[in-house]
Amino acid sequence: MKAAVILQPERFEVQELPIPEPAPGELLVRVMASGICGTDVHIFQGEYLGSYPIIPGHEFAGVVEQVGSRVTRFKPGSRVAVEPNLPCDNCVNCLNNRQNFCLNWQAVGVTLPGGMSQYVSVPEKAAFDIGDLPFEQAAFMEPLSCVLHGLERLDLGMASKVAILGAGPIGLLLLQGLRQQGAARVVVVDKNPDRAALAQSFGADLSLTNLDELERDAYDAVVDATGAVAVMSRTLDFARPGGRILLFGVPPSGQKMTVEAFPIFRKGLTILSSFTSLRNSYQALDLLKNRRILVEKVISHRLPLEALQQGIQLIEKGSEPVYKVMILPNG
Ligand SMILES: [Zn+2]
Ligand SMILES: [Zn+2]
Repeated sequence: MKAAVILQPERFEVQELPIPEPAPGELLVRVMASGICGTDVHIFQGEYLGSYPIIPGHEFAGVVEQVGSRVTRFKPGSRVAVEPNLPCDNCVNCLNNRQNFCLNWQAVGVTLPGGMSQYVSVPEKAAFDIGDLPFEQAAFMEPLSCVLHGLERLDLGMASKVAILGAGPIGLLLLQGLRQQGAARVVVVDKNPDRAALAQSFGADLSLTNLDELERDAYDAVVDATGAVAVMSRTLDFARPGGRILLFGVPPSGQKMTVEAFPIFRKGLTILSSFTSLRNSYQALDLLKNRRILVEKVISHRLPLEALQQGIQLIEKGSEPVYKVMILPNG
């Protein structure tokens, strides 16, 4: 099989590798669609958890090719999406329902071989039945799970006014999730005019390209979906007194965020973050299957495995309208 391997930061190669043999509790998945995430860009640049060499890809769906002897929920031909985070279920955090902070955390495509490969073997507990949902849409199960966890953290009531900074794939999922939760008004800011316009087509009440045009001290919640520390530090300006901040985007590790401390106190702000997800895969698939959250138009590029580096560079540069780049390892 062919697999895209990041040998070390900034070094990528497509390798011919043996198809993995599933262990008794594992499924062998033939990967049909595998989304490139900002995290993959960070892994490529050497700015994230995990070790090298690594086959990236943690947002993917495919067909079960083979099952291990202990697998009960699936058979060859089953259509599945993979939840990449693998908690041990046996540490102090797992046993307290904080599996996202598992002390022995492993993740498909981060610490274990991922979906930028024609085949990957995953534990049965990581696989979810996607029914007849198209593979490309099912590949959004993971990012949408993270978004749902973030919205649970934010815990907004009905009729909230929310500003989202960043209209990439995550910003567009957050926007739709907030709409489903009954937000009264959602304003999206992205410096790229194409992205801002797309946000409007996904239900933003207003989209802006200049952060300085966003009303200050006005929003019940301000969500950063850029991971750019310069933008993250501005979130405080736009929250109303008593408002909430959700720092959702993944910043590069090692960078400091500078904020003025006094307004946090004066405005009584709540500052939240969100790490991966917590048993949100079923919710994510139900929203996708019932078309409450739409993702087709979030996909801007479809590329073969060999073009993974090109896909990462498209996201890094962001010069043309780039949203979700899907890698199709099996054509
Ligand atoms: Zn991701
Ligand atoms: Zn654990």
